[in-house]
Amino acid sequence: MRDKEVEKLIKAEEKRQKSVINLIPSENYVSDDVLRALGSVLNNKYSEGYPGARYYGGNIIIDKVEELCKKRALKLFKLNPAEWHANVQPLSGSPANLAVYSALVPIGGKIMGLLLSSGGHLTHGQKMSMTGKIWQQVPYEVDPKTETLDYEALKKLAIAEKTNIIVAGYTAYPRFVDWKKFREIADAAGAILMVDMSHMAGLVAGGVYPSPFPYADVVTTTTHKTLRGPRSAIIFAKKDERSFDKKIDKAIIPGLQGGPHENAIAGVAVCLKEAMSPSFKKYAKQIIKNAKILAGELKKRGWRIISGGTDSHLLLVDTWMNGKGLSGKDAERALEKGGIIVNKNTIPGDPRGPLDPSGIRLGTPAITTQGMKEKDMAKIAEKIDRILHKK
Ligand SMILES: *Cc1c(COP(=O)(O)O)cnc(C)c1O
Repeated sequence: MRDKEVEKLIKAEEKRQKSVINLIPSENYVSDDVLRALGSVLNNKYSEGYPGARYYGGNIIIDKVEELCKKRALKLFKLNPAEWHANVQPLSGSPANLAVYSALVPIGGKIMGLLLSSGGHLTHGQKMSMTGKIWQQVPYEVDPKTETLDYEALKKLAIAEKTNIIVAGYTAYPRFVDWKKFREIADAAGAILMVDMSHMAGLVAGGVYPSPFPYADVVTTTTHKTLRGPRSAIIFAKKDERSFDKKIDKAIIPGLQGGPHENAIAGVAVCLKEAMSPSFKKYAKQIIKNAKILAGELKKRGWRIISGGTDSHLLLVDTWMNGKGLSGKDAERALEKGGIIVNKNTIPGDPRGPLDPSGIRLGTPAITTQGMKEKDMAKIAEKIDRILHKK
């Protein structure tokens, strides 16, 4: 690079990424091919609109890029193009969710979403998010005893509140979600079922986490977490007489966005193809294996794992232990000094505030990309235990 100042920072970040143990479950390390697509001349083109119907000329090749990406998105998740539509233009996960609500929920309508403190995302109608100002959140929580979803309680709530949409799929929920039960709840309440599989898309693609597609009306996902692609997002919509597909396309443009980031869309196409490979299946399997072992090794050392364990790529650790341990913030800081990157996280029924909560969230997608296996998990657990006890 000619700009030495920026180059130096990129090199420094590259070095940092290689020198730490990264346990942030929403991060990953993408392939050189994905980076190549992101850094390509596709960045230079304006292509507002959709393939075959753009506001600008010169989009013959760009149309092919976007069509390829859409085709691969449907193929990866085994979706019939006659039944499902993919929009690959959302700039990231948050704008994707915003687009779905603006397409399908009247202003002031109700979004039933898991509270942040239980593992939900800001964009699931949280008060401090615009999604909680334009619409009204019907909040739900995990059961305080089991620390998992109570589907019977959810059904009662959805019916009583007459919610317009139900959002399932979370940011910090370690267990499998029963999508079928959510379908039954949505049907009983006359609500739309949206699944936000941002965190587990790669696990679903790899066949190691239940697919939401047989049950959901709409599925949103980021592409940069377990799916291991560029920072971007996809919205999948069921094609039927309700025209969700057309409404969502219109909500993206002209509703919310201008020109799509076709360089990112090309990168998404690359990661989708990578995710179809047998080696990605192995990768997805190893992610969960690693997370289960990490949870077990921490448990063995006396740490309380929220809900008792994990079915997925992430786990939540209660570091506060009713005042006997550390706050999540202190734990995060101590671990960072020791070269382990995690994020502080609220735990169900958190006795402390969200800014300095009672736990940490650990995930295995990034370290599994680096090739770590079972034996490495025991070492990491040992190191975490040592650092947190020394504090
Ligand atoms: C990460 C995430 C998002 C938001 O994605 P951004 O790309 O950070 O905007 C939305 N929903 C869930 C469940 C997520 O985990």
